[in-house]
Amino acid sequence: MFDYLIVGAGFAGSVLAERLANGSGKKVLICDKRPHIAGNAYDFYNDEGVLIHKYGPHIFHTNSKDVFDYLGQFTEWREYQHRVLASVDGMLVPMPINLDTINKLYGLNLTAFEVEEFLASKAEKLDQIKTSEDVVVSKVGRELYEKFFRNYTRKQWGLDPSELDASVTARVPTRTNRDDRYFTDSYQAMPKHGYTRMFERMLDNPNIKIMLNCDYREIADDIPYREMIYTGPVDSFFNYRYGKLPYRSLEFKHETHDTEKFQEAPVVNYPNEQAYTRITEFKCLTGQEHKKTSIVYEYPQAEGDPYYPIPRPENAELYNKYKALADARPDVHFVGRLATYKYYNMDQIVAQALTVYGKIIGMKRKEAAVAAVASSPATTTTTTNGKTKSNGKLPATVQVTGNAVM
Ligand code: FAD
Ligand code: UDP
Repeated sequence: MFDYLIVGAGFAGSVLAERLANGSGKKVLICDKRPHIAGNAYDFYNDEGVLIHKYGPHIFHTNSKDVFDYLGQFTEWREYQHRVLASVDGMLVPMPINLDTINKLYGLNLTAFEVEEFLASKAEKLDQIKTSEDVVVSKVGRELYEKFFRNYTRKQWGLDPSELDASVTARVPTRTNRDDRYFTDSYQAMPKHGYTRMFERMLDNPNIKIMLNCDYREIADDIPYREMIYTGPVDSFFNYRYGKLPYRSLEFKHETHDTEKFQEAPVVNYPNEQAYTRITEFKCLTGQEHKKTSIVYEYPQAEGDPYYPIPRPENAELYNKYKALADARPDVHFVGRLATYKYYNMDQIVAQALTVYGKIIGMKRKEAAVAAVASSPATTTTTTNGKTKSNGKLPATVQVTGNAVM
């Protein structure tokens, strides 16, 4: 009998498998319908020997020390600050828009103070910031919005920015200084030996069994387990009872070139002329040295593997109906980007999974992240009819330590 059947071996599923096994001595079966662990963060060495990300560029960044330290138990880090150029008006300019972007684009020589005035003179005054269009035009005006955001967003989402929540384009700031980093988080780094290696170490516990190429529906009725952790699309779990919840997909076109360097930046965005949104050169992200180089083009599409929940009011409304069904299933924990329909980065998913583990064992996230089994069987949590009970105190067999669990 397994204590948990975990559906999906991405960040959400693997963090919970690691915590339940290493933190609570639980027996876990984790399955994934793909032929590999690590979900969308999966990386591997291609035939030419270049480390690539199968599902597009994954750059780790977080402001959470807890999350960074938690993952740091399973990987060494390589410091990496991400930079992006955008191809606009035949030029490659820094993205997010900053002082150098404006000066290069318009052939000006403005100071930080002057560029602030420049942008203020272009910005549209709006009473309310509701949509992804509002966010940008209220900061930089319509011309820059059209050059950098409108077409990229239409391509990426198949929707006009005016149809998307403000949170989507708000991910990309505007700067009046010369900071050309894509992210400003306190911790920015890549797993030194790749994401897949990090996942292998997370799942390295005799109490964790892994089944790949396995849709949970093929085994759920035959393999006994007490509770389920589900990280797939929530609408699929409920057999699309209220209709399909829209997810945006991508086609990835991978290429390897017989040259050391392909492009001017780790990622180049193509907002306008091309059918793809961006090109990533992996060696820039991973730091690998190799005489060839591998890149990936991203072509957004409606059909295919679900990658992005689409943040807009009607989708939130539909998701809430599925959430009500999910809330009525105490035997199943819904976690992750697809199951909670949240446009979350990797670190947010790790935090979400640690919070769920904390709830299961009755601890706060910070303590739950480092709880370790001293000897098995461990944990005082009990499960009756799918309801987990805990006294909220640290069980005698669970230690809280600031050090690495492994
Ligand atoms: P997933 O990684 O999607 O894992 C869910 C798993 O469940 C999948 O492996 C799937 O095969 C499996 N599954 C689904 N249904 C079933 C079923 N019926 N049976 C068995 N298995 C099933 N985040 C960042 O922080 N930085 C980035 O730079 C970044 N770049 C990204 C680029 C792209 C192109 C995409 C799509 C995402 C990016 N992300 C990035 C987001 C990141 O991928 C997610 O936050 C994270 O991977 C989500 O983890 P998860 O476990 O929720 O989902
Ligand atoms: N965006 C844009 N132009 C760009 C970069 C981003 O219009 O050059 C918008 C677009 O809507 C995109 C969103 O900002 O989907 C968030 O960008 P981010 O780079 O965070 O997307 P992700 O890496 O999650 O695909």
